[in-house]
Amino acid sequence: QPMIECAALTRTYDLGAERVHALRDVTFTVNRGEFVAIMGPSGSGKSTLLNLLGALDRPTSGDLVVDGQSVARMSGDDLARLRNREIGFVFQQFNLLPRMSALENVMLPLTYSPLRGLDRPAIARARLEEIGLGARIHHRPNQLSGGQQQRVAIARALANSPNIILADEPTGALDTHMTAEIMALFSRLHQKGLTVVVITHEPEVAAYAERLLTFRDGELVKDVCQAPIAVNG
Ligand code: ADP
Ligand code: ADP
Repeated sequence: QPMIECAALTRTYDLGAERVHALRDVTFTVNRGEFVAIMGPSGSGKSTLLNLLGALDRPTSGDLVVDGQSVARMSGDDLARLRNREIGFVFQQFNLLPRMSALENVMLPLTYSPLRGLDRPAIARARLEEIGLGARIHHRPNQLSGGQQQRVAIARALANSPNIILADEPTGALDTHMTAEIMALFSRLHQKGLTVVVITHEPEVAAYAERLLTFRDGELVKDVCQAPIAVNG
């Protein structure tokens, strides 16, 4: 069974008399454990697609099935549950809470978690250690470099052991060196079996994925497999 199935996925916005087709009849499947990059010019529908894949939004028409569950027909509560259990989000600007330590930021998603009864600080600490930030768990975001902040954000995305990582321009605020570090990290998560979907403007970033989807004017115009940049586990 695939991890993500989109069938004639369509999302329109009504702006007064005008109807914007943010996504139009998009059909594709992402298998379990695939590493997919999504490219396309500004306004081509990438964020709209990520919002749908992340169960933050529902399609206007068409079908979207995430890990066997049909998002199109789900109630708000069920969408929230799917989001918390299945999906880890990573953003361009990290979106960490500035007054909280790295550890506290990573603990946040565990509040609404099936792992609830467990030792949340211990789980958060383990996530930070896994991504090499074990020595900085009590630092606040402004005491960390951009690359380190993004690693905290990735640890937070992994807190609830999701099956899917959705990242929207995760390297957009990082320099070349940190970009390579963060993409190597996504590569290792992929090697461990996670399904990874990354939106990017940068071909050097898309090169880490094994498949590249290109969007234009809300339509999927290209779907190619590629040999990804090799990263040692
Ligand atoms: P991208 O992420 O590729 O830049 P978006 O998904 O943000 O593209 O936008 C696709 C199209 O849908 C654009 O024309 C955008 O203006 C429009 N759009 C996106 N979100 C909304 C919204 N909430 N309301 C109205 N129009 C929107
Ligand atoms: P990106 O930098 O990823 O391309 P955008 O600037 O296109 O993001 O969109 C940022 C957010 O604003 C998205 O959640 C999108 O849905 C929303 N948005 C985009 N275009 C419009 C619009 N014309 N009207 C209202 N919201 C929009």
